[in-house]
Amino acid sequence: MLGFVETELFIGGKWVPASSGNRFDVLDPATGDVIATVADGSESDAISAVDAASAAAAGWAATPPRVRGEALRRAWELMTERADALAKLISLENGKALTDAKGEVTYAAEFFRWFAEEAVRGDGLVTTAPSGANRIVVVRQPVGVCVLVTPWNFPAAMATRKIGPALAAGCTVILKPASDTPLTALAMAAILAEAGVPDGVVNVLPSRSSGKVVGKMLHDPRVRKLSFTGSTEVGRILLAQAADQVVNTSMELGGNAPFVVFADADLDAALDGAMIAKMRNGGEACTAANRFYVEESIAGEFSRLLASRMSALVVGPGTDEKTQVGPLVNEDTVAKVDGLVRGALESGASAVTGGTRPDGPGFYYPPTVLTGVAADAPILREEIFGPVAPIVTFGSEQEAVRLANDTEFGLVAYVYTGDLARGLRVSEAIEAGMVGLNRGLVSDPAAPFGGVKQSGIGREGGHEGLLEYLESKYIAVNW
Ligand code: NAP
Repeated sequence: MLGFVETELFIGGKWVPASSGNRFDVLDPATGDVIATVADGSESDAISAVDAASAAAAGWAATPPRVRGEALRRAWELMTERADALAKLISLENGKALTDAKGEVTYAAEFFRWFAEEAVRGDGLVTTAPSGANRIVVVRQPVGVCVLVTPWNFPAAMATRKIGPALAAGCTVILKPASDTPLTALAMAAILAEAGVPDGVVNVLPSRSSGKVVGKMLHDPRVRKLSFTGSTEVGRILLAQAADQVVNTSMELGGNAPFVVFADADLDAALDGAMIAKMRNGGEACTAANRFYVEESIAGEFSRLLASRMSALVVGPGTDEKTQVGPLVNEDTVAKVDGLVRGALESGASAVTGGTRPDGPGFYYPPTVLTGVAADAPILREEIFGPVAPIVTFGSEQEAVRLANDTEFGLVAYVYTGDLARGLRVSEAIEAGMVGLNRGLVSDPAAPFGGVKQSGIGREGGHEGLLEYLESKYIAVNW
């Protein structure tokens, strides 16, 4: 059991048990053992959290932007000071390798620093109406009480990417973390309280009854915003629910990233990028390269070299310093990955490395490279969310773009080429919210992160991330 992390609900600045008295287990993915039990929030706890967020809303909105920013800046400092302990916690409940967890803590903390700086940039507009009759004044005001729903794959960063801009904008929040990884979210609440964020501004509500709890809050008229990160499947349900009270929504949903390598690319750079785009977080990232499209003339060499790098990775418990690939988060995830690989193998693909699920304990899947994958195989259509790289060949630029766009998703794409004009042309033609051009990593708190098509609505990070939590009010003035 963990002595140093709070395991109750965090409502109105207090640690409180669930009103039902219920708790749920959090497992270590490396063993399947219980590492903690956490208070299981109910619909009535959800209303208490909305009460607290609502009571704190006017005071926080009126708090000077500089003061809001300084609290976020202090939270960045505290996260940075405690980076090792937080990384261990993430690794323990999520399973990811410590190096990935440390990377996540830095990335997550950076959202607090970035939005500490953005808090003072909620700019508006003053202009003269084209008729000359009046002035147009536009001011930005906080949206109000926000419900934030986050996934398990980046338990710290997906929370700070929402809490940072919400608090900077003057909104109060209720965070509903994934039930596989509530401990990191509770640790974030403790840090924000220590950083001086007033009671009720941030509330954290772990719950095993996500549908009921989130549904209850979305039907409370005091809630004005939903920011969701998770699967497209759940995103669709929440968009429909948000429609009932016309709640402002930001949706960061699933991905199916193509990784396109042209024959003129620097092969070593493409392999370095492929390893990051595929293996960051053990493949459990919405930005993970899901489909590799490699030009025919270099496909054999690329596959062989990628397989050699993938098979050299050290697989083990995330908390072990030597580990490069930890277990997947839970049994369902490993079963899904295994099913997709088996399906591809049964339809004619070959495993150059990996491809077989090991015996337990723990939710492990080996780094795997598949070649000869059929164009209509489910592994190319669905998010794999594991350490598996399916490789498909293409013959022309047009074919590469057509294959890359053959999906309902549009979060991110990666393109490797030595020809800058082609790189930019293909980047423009690919339907995605983000493109890594000769680069296997796009995530950056200073840049607008988000997808097109069924990968989402809205952007997180950059200045756009702040605007998601502000409403424009236009005042027509005569003076
Ligand atoms: P998920 O199953 O959609 O769950 C996400 C969150 O929604 C969790 O907190 C979950 O709670 C909650 N939830 C589940 N069903 C709900 C319902 N009916 N009503 C309200 N809330 C509900 O996704 P996941 O498996 O945690 O995360 C993986 C997915 O997230 C992948 O598709 C990945 O691509 C996506 N993702 C996207 C981004 C992005 O920025 N676009 C970033 C990271 C991840 P419980 O845990 O209690 O079920």
